[in-house]
Amino acid sequence: MQKAIISVKNLVKNYGSFQAVKGISFDVYEGEIFGLLGPNGAGKSTTLEIIETLRTKTSGDVTVCGLDLDKHPEDIKKLIGVQLQTSGFYPGLSLVELIELFAGLYNQPVDPAELLKLVNLADKAKSKYKEMSGGQKQRFSIATTLINKPKIIFLDEPTTGLDPQARRNLWELITNIRAQGATVILTTHYMDEAEQLCDRIAIMDEGKIISLDSPDKMIDDLVQSGFERPRQVKAANLEDVFIHLTGKEMRDE
Ligand code: ADP
Repeated sequence: MQKAIISVKNLVKNYGSFQAVKGISFDVYEGEIFGLLGPNGAGKSTTLEIIETLRTKTSGDVTVCGLDLDKHPEDIKKLIGVQLQTSGFYPGLSLVELIELFAGLYNQPVDPAELLKLVNLADKAKSKYKEMSGGQKQRFSIATTLINKPKIIFLDEPTTGLDPQARRNLWELITNIRAQGATVILTTHYMDEAEQLCDRIAIMDEGKIISLDSPDKMIDDLVQSGFERPRQVKAANLEDVFIHLTGKEMRDE
């Protein structure tokens, strides 16, 4: 039996007369990588920001690590790590200075060198944030979510805009974070990413969850229903060609 670390029941969010989230219910299990997928405007960010205590809900019940969101938002904040928009970092500070700044805000002792090593940026400790490549900035922003040693980490489109090597590198990082015991919730528009990374996914559309299962089960169910791809799938795709030609190693170091 899996243990729910997040429990959402009948969650509703109205913006004026517009209902962005229409009474959704789902659990996220402890230790899983959970994906929230759906077209733009589906209500993903609204849902996540409510769970992150950053937005108010209209109605419904949310429990995080056994704590009621209405009663213990401050305690919940201490148990979660939220990836900030990378534009929020001071560009002229070094990575170590930025980590120390955040550690001060969280009032948490932290070893910047150890944290940077975890995200493969140890040799960039003294470099300024603005000197980082896109992949390095993303890895750094994930490092900042780990400062308060959270039980749950929220990642919003962590690999958007990255090249295939940097995306694979981030998948590895996210898998490592989970291996250390954290639960990860992420949004992505990349279906290959969801398939590779997520134990379970919820697909949202127009404020509702229209499917929730493991990627494997969803694909099997579709095939079972008689679905066939219009043409024979090749044994490789263009991304395989790209990685085969250019290699797996990171280029932004
Ligand atoms: P997603 O993350 O899936 O793209 P959002 O949660 O950002 O979806 O948005 C869901 C819907 O709610 C969209 O139609 C969006 O325009 C609307 N919305 C989001 N934030 C606000 C807001 N602060 N005020 C009014 N409408 C909003």
